[in-house]
Amino acid sequence: MDLNEYIRDIPDFPKPGIIFKDITPLLGQPEAFKASTDAMAAPYHDVELDAVVGIESRGFIFGAAIAQSVGCGFVPIRKPGKLPADTISVSYELEYGEDTVEIHRDAVGEGDRVLLVDDVLATGGTMAAAGELIRKTGASIAGLVFLVELSFLDGRARLDGEDIHSVLTY
Ligand code: AMP
Repeated sequence: MDLNEYIRDIPDFPKPGIIFKDITPLLGQPEAFKASTDAMAAPYHDVELDAVVGIESRGFIFGAAIAQSVGCGFVPIRKPGKLPADTISVSYELEYGEDTVEIHRDAVGEGDRVLLVDDVLATGGTMAAAGELIRKTGASIAGLVFLVELSFLDGRARLDGEDIHSVLTY
C-alpha cells in the first residue's frame, strides 16, 4: 500500500510559502491509518518502553494508536494552560515569537523510557522542545517517531543523538 497517496499537499497553508502535509485523507481510510501506525510502532515492539508520549495535537492521534500497539500507556504533551494538574514546561523559539510545551509533572519520571510521537518532522523545533521536556522529568528517550519527515528542512540535525524513525520522507 502506498501511503503517499493519502497525504495531501495544501499549498500556502497556514501561510504563504508553506506546503502543508494534510494527513486527514489517511486518517479517513482505515487500512491506510492502520498501516501507518503499524509502521510507526514496528521498530519499537522489542524495545523496553514505559510510555508513549504524543505531541498536541496530531501526535495524539498516532501516539494513542502506537501506545495500544506496543502495550504502553499514553501521555500527552500539550500547549500551555491545557493540562489540569501540576506541570513542567519548556519554551522554545519560533520564527516569530515563542511557544511552550507542557507535561504533567507526575506523568513520567526517573527510570522511565519513553517513545515520542508526532505526525510531521519539519524544522525539529517542536520535537527538540518535547525532548528537553522529557529530560527535565528525569525520564529517558527511547526514540522519536514521525509519519512524515520533511528532510529538506533538516530537522534531524536538531535532534542529534536520538533514535529517529519516519515512515515517509519528502
Ligand atoms: P517543526 O517544529 O518545525 O518540526 O514543526 C513540527 C510541527 O508543526 C509538527 O507538529 C507538525 O504537525 C507541524 N508542521 C510543520 N510543518 C508542517 C507541514 N509542512 N505540514 C504539516 N504539518 C507541519
